[in-house]
Amino acid sequence: MILGIESTAHTFGIGVVNKGKILANVRDMYTTKEGGIIPTESAQHHKKVAPKVYQKALDEANISPEQIKAIAVSNAPGLAPCLHEGVKFAQALAKRLKVQIIPVNHCVAHLEIGQSVGAKDPVLLYASGANTQIIAYAAGKYRVFGETLDIGIGNFIDKVARHFGMGFPGGPEIEKKALKGKYIELPYSIKGMDVSFSGLQTKLQQLYDKGEKVEDLSYSLQETAFSMLVEAAERALAHTGKTELVLGGGVACNSRLQEMCQIMCKERIKKTKFFCPSKDLLVDNAAMIAFNGEIMFNAGISVKPGKVEVKPRERTDHVNVTWR
Ligand code: AMP
Ligand code: MG
Repeated sequence: MILGIESTAHTFGIGVVNKGKILANVRDMYTTKEGGIIPTESAQHHKKVAPKVYQKALDEANISPEQIKAIAVSNAPGLAPCLHEGVKFAQALAKRLKVQIIPVNHCVAHLEIGQSVGAKDPVLLYASGANTQIIAYAAGKYRVFGETLDIGIGNFIDKVARHFGMGFPGGPEIEKKALKGKYIELPYSIKGMDVSFSGLQTKLQQLYDKGEKVEDLSYSLQETAFSMLVEAAERALAHTGKTELVLGGGVACNSRLQEMCQIMCKERIKKTKFFCPSKDLLVDNAAMIAFNGEIMFNAGISVKPGKVEVKPRERTDHVNVTWR
């Protein structure tokens, strides 16, 4: 049994995995009525809910603490106060159970969980609140083939949604409005493999202030921003010669983004398979940390509890992937 802990941003989670099988995936999310995440408040939330989430995960997996072989914790990247809470919890538990810790990079875990739905060597389109990256394995590392040059797609959607008077998270609300919208041309910003959203954000806000309909703006936001992502992902597939695409991140819950990916994969001349994990595994979750942790542990990777470093800015391509 590998226990996984997630605490990089708004979500505190504990998951349990055994031989690639997910036995528990419990989450408690910090939310706000207004505005975005305040890191120290989110960290306080994690500290408060940790014991309850832990107990729930043990119950869900139907195991006792003694069965835990090692503890995986996402120590990077993310909000420093939040990461520290997760790592502190992992260290205390590891010391109590006398087990080792497996430090897991959160972005890499989003990619590796694709294996649970059958992907072997995919390109990952990672579309979450703070992160937007196109990642694939090449020569010992997970390389970032494309990414946002300014803000993450989810943060962009949330900011526009807030301007439209919607609450956080704005993504699901935008998706609903988009169903009744029609297309308005918007700035399409992709440079090579990289995308940017700030120009699009400004334009959408200006159009809203001029009285354009929220439905049309939501629809056009999705069509434009998602096309940019899908174009970059397709280019990464072409460049790497890989034939699998995996989605990850909270924005990947969007049905239209999923559909666009599906269509792109189908239309490629080189047969490409599309994998979309279930919603529980797309959003920030600890099952993916445990899942990735187990793979690493089986490859002999683990450290003493005192040796875990918190790395808020560790990049995906800094991780030495020695377990493949
Ligand atoms: P994450 O950071 O991966 O937990 O994802 C959170 C982000 O996903 C937030 O910015 C949400 O607005 C966004 N999100 C959640 N559901 C949807 C959806 N159906 N469509 C678009 N964005 C979404
Ligand atoms: Mg994430």
